[in-house]
Amino acid sequence: MIEDVPIDWLFGIQKRFGKEFFKAQGLDLDVLIKGLEGDKLDWNKEYILAMSRKVNGLLDNFDWKMHATTDQQTIQDNLLEDIVDIVKYTIAIAILNGFDTKDFIRKFDEKSTVVDAKFRQQQTIEKLKKSTHPIALIDIDGVIAQYPKPLMTYFALQVGDEEWIDKQPSDFLRHNPTLFHELKREYRLSGRKSQVPIVPGIRTFMNWLKSNEYTIVLLTARPYDKIYRIYADTLKFLSENNIPYDCIIWNENKGQYAVEHLGSANVEFAIDDEVLNANEFAYNGIRSYLFNPSGEEVSGVLPDVHVIKNFVEVTI
Ligand SMILES: [Mg+2]
Repeated sequence: MIEDVPIDWLFGIQKRFGKEFFKAQGLDLDVLIKGLEGDKLDWNKEYILAMSRKVNGLLDNFDWKMHATTDQQTIQDNLLEDIVDIVKYTIAIAILNGFDTKDFIRKFDEKSTVVDAKFRQQQTIEKLKKSTHPIALIDIDGVIAQYPKPLMTYFALQVGDEEWIDKQPSDFLRHNPTLFHELKREYRLSGRKSQVPIVPGIRTFMNWLKSNEYTIVLLTARPYDKIYRIYADTLKFLSENNIPYDCIIWNENKGQYAVEHLGSANVEFAIDDEVLNANEFAYNGIRSYLFNPSGEEVSGVLPDVHVIKNFVEVTI
């Protein structure tokens, strides 16, 4: 019966038990799920505390001396039972908070992609330090992905005023700081980051770099550690747009991070759409391009920075 256990089966058992359990407390699980605070908050805490105790208890399974009199088979069976118990609590908490198996599988898949990519990124950076291939550092937002127009279009749509489309995020921030942060968070959570259009000419340029054996390192300050799905959305965006790359550096201070970790590597140039980052590269002796497609005057640019309107101006 349980040879091929679908996750629906696990959730089904746990949900049936949850319904009976809460009924015995005079509560309705379906009502609890829809609630926001009160009982639901308390039961979340109960579950989490109980699960934490179980997680700590897992360690006891490895205190072999204490189990000197217990046989190996019993130890293994106890360990498995503790693991299953933790999974049962995990599913119970998921159900209590309104998640179903589809949500669970989707997030499991996203998280696995992220864990895998992070692991490979660390390995790649170590390899890059020793590489003799030239390295190109390319910013994502504003160089590969169009920015800020897609974000401003979203703002305009939400507030019902088209005028915002051609303005800057800083204008909206000044206009209404609370709404700015709220909408930006909503935008990031909506998955729209994976569907942003690419900057014209960038794919040709990236393919050219690849065919000339450049190692392509992408840079981004996107806050994937605060909004988890940004990581998976970014990978999806790159893959669906066939953007070649070797690794992504995720860091709030990406310029500084790249200089610190790859400063001694074979970095040939960097492209960024923000003056501060372009200056940082130039200041640290990296050939730096400031991508400024509008061609409007920019101030505060260090003399060593090359301001370009088009990728064909990159002379390497
Ligand atoms: Mg940028």
